[in-house]
Amino acid sequence: MLETTIAGSLPKPAWLAKPRMLWAPWQLEGEALVEAKRDATLLALKEQEDAGIDTDGEQARQHFVHGFLENIKGIDFTRRVTMGIRNNRYNAEVPTVTGPLRRKQSVHGFEAEIARAHTRRRLKFTLPGPMTVVDTIADAHYGDKIALAMAFAALLNDEAHELAKIGVDVIQFDEPAFNVYVKEVTEWGIAALHRAAEGLLCKTAVHICYGYGIKANIDWKASLGAEWRQYEAIFPALATSRIDQVSVECAGAKVPIDLLGLLRGKEVLLGAIDVASERVETPEEVAATIEQASRFVPVERLYPCTNCGMAPMDRSLAISKLVALSAGAALARGRFGSQHR
Ligand code: ZN
Repeated sequence: MLETTIAGSLPKPAWLAKPRMLWAPWQLEGEALVEAKRDATLLALKEQEDAGIDTDGEQARQHFVHGFLENIKGIDFTRRVTMGIRNNRYNAEVPTVTGPLRRKQSVHGFEAEIARAHTRRRLKFTLPGPMTVVDTIADAHYGDKIALAMAFAALLNDEAHELAKIGVDVIQFDEPAFNVYVKEVTEWGIAALHRAAEGLLCKTAVHICYGYGIKANIDWKASLGAEWRQYEAIFPALATSRIDQVSVECAGAKVPIDLLGLLRGKEVLLGAIDVASERVETPEEVAATIEQASRFVPVERLYPCTNCGMAPMDRSLAISKLVALSAGAALARGRFGSQHR
């Protein structure tokens, strides 16, 4: 009960990538980079195991979207365009789709195999969701957003099947764009997600947050008013989807907690750690978030989690937050356990 997990990324060691930034450049190249990615994945696993958590920490990719795109044919990384992403919330330098998309080779099999070989815990692996991919790339070939999303979904599906074969237990698709284009989620977003998850026998998850703790996101959140009700528009459709788990942001958020009740039947990865705050939550605060959520989601279906990835965060701070998450879940587990006696 109340097993912990994280939304995805952990900060990378300073010898692997430039610290405290998104899209951080690698510090090494060639064979040395491959070896450093392997070492960092092992370290991330150990830190997580000690806190009862279970991913590869995304140590081998520069960014959760572009890390996937780097091994796809039909994308020109030299043709970079500055584009407003997440409905122009911030500018990103993105590559361009210039031809039919094809997976050149396994994208994340390398780090999934390392992680699988070195942990006996349940292992989760994250991939970008099709809508978020389409929102983080320029298109000079397909000319149609939905066609492009479906093309990516097919590639993501191939990759997901390969990861499942390696022994990954949960495959999570990251869809922060779902909170931005809420109308499109029901029009085609979930259909694209279903295509990405087609035929998978392992558990599937979708992560929908309000973004990394970077200034553009913090400013955006400040503009969303006293109550953030984006989830209200998309949860009913997600509740009837074929995805098993939904990862949501609840710590330090103005999301009315009762909206979780709209995810009837789903497992909820409950964001109980704020990735936009440099203050480490107390175990008591984490337990309080869990207890509030348990009024709307059966505790058997709750998985305490972080709000989002922690890639751009200070590394020691992120580790302290992992420890707090684990301690808070243990506290809540003890309380629920004694209630059930
Ligand atoms: Zn996120």
